[in-house]
Amino acid sequence: MRDAEFFRSWMTAAAAAVEREADRLTELDSPIGDADHGSNLLRGFTAVRTALEAEPPAAPGAVLQLAGRTLISTVGGASGPLYGMLLRRTGKELGEAPEVSDAELAAALDKGVGAVAQLGGAAAGDKTMLDALLPGVAALGTSYRAAADAAENGALATVPMQARKGRASYLGERSIGHQDPGATSSALLLGALADVAEREAAERTEDGR
Ligand code: ADP
Ligand code: MG
Repeated sequence: MRDAEFFRSWMTAAAAAVEREADRLTELDSPIGDADHGSNLLRGFTAVRTALEAEPPAAPGAVLQLAGRTLISTVGGASGPLYGMLLRRTGKELGEAPEVSDAELAAALDKGVGAVAQLGGAAAGDKTMLDALLPGVAALGTSYRAAADAAENGALATVPMQARKGRASYLGERSIGHQDPGATSSALLLGALADVAEREAAERTEDGR
């Protein structure tokens, strides 16, 4: 079972990954966007970390809902409301339970990704964050690492796609040949989840628990 601390660690790890990769995310957003994806998410996840430290929620669902609300209020770009929706909806699905199972988290994330698709009107193959989130969440049944790898492969697979949603779609065929920044950051988010799950498993082994 996963408690609120696990979810806070996930968000902290996501913030660290965004910090590490912010320049790269912004570079990816240069040829097919407005070169702000890294700075958008850096601002957002820094605020998430601060909000979670200021008033650490006691339930997994509340952690994700606070993170989602914070992203919506601090990220101006398209990605803010979309990631905000992902985390808020996932958190809402988890409800107020103090601990949730991996299967409950997988089901909740599935709903969260569905809400992103509905809000943004995008589908698989449109060269958006969904091209990492959909395969990533589909692989959660295998393991967190499998989900992270599937999301990473999904992000790589956006290179030959033509964007049909968001700013990149204004470029038409010229959007082909570039990796989508949002799909790349989504892979970071699921990579952070896998890292935290593996760290916790290693600690458990060390403790002989
Ligand atoms: P903006 O495009 O407003 O500058 P960002 O640069 O922060 O916002 O985020 C861009 C990313 O948002 C894209 O790479 C894409 O993955 C994602 N995105 C944009 N529009 C949509 C949409 N309608 N549905 C899903 N994802 C989208
Ligand atoms: Mg942008």
